[in-house]
Order: sequence, then C-alpha cells, then structure tokens
Amino acid sequence: MNEKRHLPAVDRVLSQLSDLIEAHGRQPVTACVRAELAAAREGLKHGLPLPENGALLAAIGRRAAEAGRARLRAVFNLTGTVLHTNLGRAQLAEEAIAAMVDAARSPCALEYDLASGGRGDRDDLVSGLLAELVAGGSPANFGQYAATIVNNNAAAVLLTLNALAQGKEAVVSRGELVEIGGAFRIPDVMRRAQVKLHEIGTTNRTHAKDFQEAINPKTALLMKIHTSNYAVTGFTAAVDEKIIAEIAHAAGLPFVVDLGSGTLTDFAALGLPAEPTPQQALAAGADIVTFSGDKLLGGPQAGLIVGRKDLIAKIKKNPLKRALRVGKTTLAALEATLRLYRDPDRLVERLPTLRLLTRPLADIAAQGERLLPVMQTALGTLLTVSVEPCSSQIGSGALPVERLPSLALVFRSTAKKPGKTLLTVENAFRGLPVPVIGYIRDDAYHLDLRCLEAKDEARFVAQLAQLKF
Ligand SMILES: *Cc1c(COP(=O)(O)O)cnc(C)c1O
Repeated sequence: MNEKRHLPAVDRVLSQLSDLIEAHGRQPVTACVRAELAAAREGLKHGLPLPENGALLAAIGRRAAEAGRARLRAVFNLTGTVLHTNLGRAQLAEEAIAAMVDAARSPCALEYDLASGGRGDRDDLVSGLLAELVAGGSPANFGQYAATIVNNNAAAVLLTLNALAQGKEAVVSRGELVEIGGAFRIPDVMRRAQVKLHEIGTTNRTHAKDFQEAINPKTALLMKIHTSNYAVTGFTAAVDEKIIAEIAHAAGLPFVVDLGSGTLTDFAALGLPAEPTPQQALAAGADIVTFSGDKLLGGPQAGLIVGRKDLIAKIKKNPLKRALRVGKTTLAALEATLRLYRDPDRLVERLPTLRLLTRPLADIAAQGERLLPVMQTALGTLLTVSVEPCSSQIGSGALPVERLPSLALVFRSTAKKPGKTLLTVENAFRGLPVPVIGYIRDDAYHLDLRCLEAKDEARFVAQLAQLKF
C-alpha cells in the first residue's frame, strides 16, 4: 500500500514524452499515461512491483502506437481467394486510385455540366462508357443502353425490383433463389422491394412452359439470377436467356438478369473459366442487367444497373435511387476502371484482379523458390516448410466450382499436437505490421502465393524478422 505513493504523477511522466506527444498529440498520450498508471496501481494492489520508469514509458509508447493505428489496415491476402469479401474484394488499378485521390482532394464536376454550366447528372460520368462497353463493339446497340450506379449489387437488385415491379410479381426459377454471403437472400430482397416472388419450376429443373404459365395480369417482369456461389449439377434444366427474353417480350414484359459478378471481358480468351458477361445477357435479349463493381470487374464497391434507356430512366426516378447512390470517389474509381476496358491489350497488366487471376504458374513457382529459404530461416526448427501445389479460387461467388492451379508455402509442425502450433503460427503471421492472412488445411498452414505480387515481395520479406511465436 505504501508503494502506491511512489507512482509518478501524470505530469511528471508526460514531461518525459515530448516525442510521443509530437507524434500522437497531447490528449491521446495523456489518456495512455493515465491508463498505464491505472494498470500499475491495479498491479500494486495485487502485489506486483512498481514498474521501472523505462518500462513504464515503453508501455505507454506501445499503448499510444496501438491506439493511433488505423482500424482498417492493409493486409497480405494469401488465402488463395482472389476476390475475398472479408478482405475488401478487388484491389484497384493505379489509374483508379489516382482518380479517387483527385476527386477526394478537389472540388469536381460531379453533378455539373461543364459545357453548359448547368446542373449535370452523376450517372452521366459512366453511363455512356458502360453503354459503349456492353454494346460489345456494336454502335448500332450503343444508343439504346444507359446505366445508373448504386452502392452495391444488392442495392442494384433492390432498386430495380422496386422500380419495375412494386406491388406486382417477379417470376424466378426455384433453382435460382440464391443466398449470397449470408445477408442477401433473393426472397427477402423481393419482400423488401415490395415485390411478390412468383417461384416456378423445381430446384433442379425449370422449363420454358413454366415461365409461360406463370405470366398473369399481376406479372411485372421475368428474372434470371446467376447462381453465383453454387452449381446445380446432374439432372438439371434451365431455360436459355434468349428464350426467357422472347417469352417476356411476347407478353410485353421486361427481362431482368442479375449477373452478380459479371465481367466485361472474355474470360475464355484469357485462359480463365468462362463467366457470363453483361454483353451476352443484353445480346440475348435482357432488358436490364445488374452486377457488382468490386467483383470480376475489378473496380470499387458499386452496383451497376445497365440496360434499356427507358427502363433506366424509370429506375432513376425511384426515390430509393437517391438513398442508394454513390459518392464522388466511387464514381472516380469506377470511371477510371471502365476506361481501362477500352484498351483490351493492356487491361490484364493494369487491372490487378485480372493480373492476379491470370498470373502464370511459372512466376508463382519462381517466387516459391525464392521465399522457401527465407521462410526456413524465419521459422527455425519450429516447423518444416515446403512449396506445394494448391488451388486458388476466384471468390465473391464467381465460378464457384472452378479452381486455379497455384502454389503455396506449406508449414507443417513436427510437434505431437500440430494443431496448437499451427494456430500459433497463424497468429504470428496475423500479428505482423502488415498482417499476413493464410489458411489452415489438412494439418498444415498455407500461404497461397498467387496474390503476392513481385512488387510487394520485398515488403513481405522485410517484416518476417518480426515474427513472434
Ligand atoms: C454478389 C452478388 C450479389 C450481391 O452483390 P454485392 O455487390 O455484394 O452487393 C447479388 N447477386 C448475385 C448473383 C451476386 O453474385
């Protein structure tokens, strides 16, 4: 009890912390001093010795650094899932980052028509570009399309349904009533959009006549939803988009396609598993397509609604659009990303999502060779390390059954209970200044190297000395 008096006064501690105050500010550092003194006081009560002055200052420094660190931190995504929703999906192209920074820093012509000096429309920044890209090089189609942008694809689906089918029915196959990432379920979204879901067919088979027979005076639209995160295989039947479009149009109804991922480029030509594109859906007769900005498109989080001009105009008039619209930095990044698609020859090199998905295996293998001895040194005798084949996945629901051959650094423990050691290793990698996120599978810790680009390798290696087990 006597020792309590020897705890230094707050001001005396602060007087020794001018550098820390310079870095973090007086008020945050004072809070850290108080917290650390309170902890020491508590320790004394429980019989712990009075902390040395140096140790006390160091603890305050650590506390200030921790409190001053941003919560949203950059990480190395070595999970093997390229578009990892929990890790922020697409990494933006440098062109998109630069455009975002400019828009953030300066006033910009977001809703201002520089030609006339009058009011503009924020969607116009990308609508023409999108119309051009989805027309697939066919100027004849170009003029008939427009686009509107909202916060994400869930918002795009909600808004489209509410604007085109409120109080009426939307016809969807039972095989497509998807749930995406837990919170987005088609039946729930329909309810919130005040649209009655008219389910047709069965889980595995839906036929053209199911669509035909469903149409009644309350029908507002026919809809197809891309089964992003699962595959229906075996005895299955789905109706071709062209046929659904014909049935819809014969009844004077719009046909809406929720593509989910939707890439604007031909994946097969890049050696990747084929993925449906908005171009194809529109060419098949879809009137509206919706897709995400931050999935295969490789841009910022956004929901893109593209299609027939008159329907887009109707969607834009809906009051929900105002609630779901995006801000200037998103539009800046989206415009810059879309512009990259105009130059297909350099697209893969510039767009990180495509660059990572198409990264040559030989490149990953050479990196594995370089990193293997570095890892062995960093980990000592705790574990064995090897480079082994693994499979990356695209993620965010795109191509759920397709895998991309890749290579991983694989760590195995020689301990009796390897599970505990592997958790320790996983924690240690996660505790690095730029946390490294891998995965444990089959009694081994894996770091899939696909998403560790050569430009980031030095930064990755430099921090390994700080691994703490
Ligand atoms: C991902 C996805 C959504 C939701 O898109 P977000 O951009 O995550 O809101 C909706 N529908 C489908 C088919 C999807 O794949």
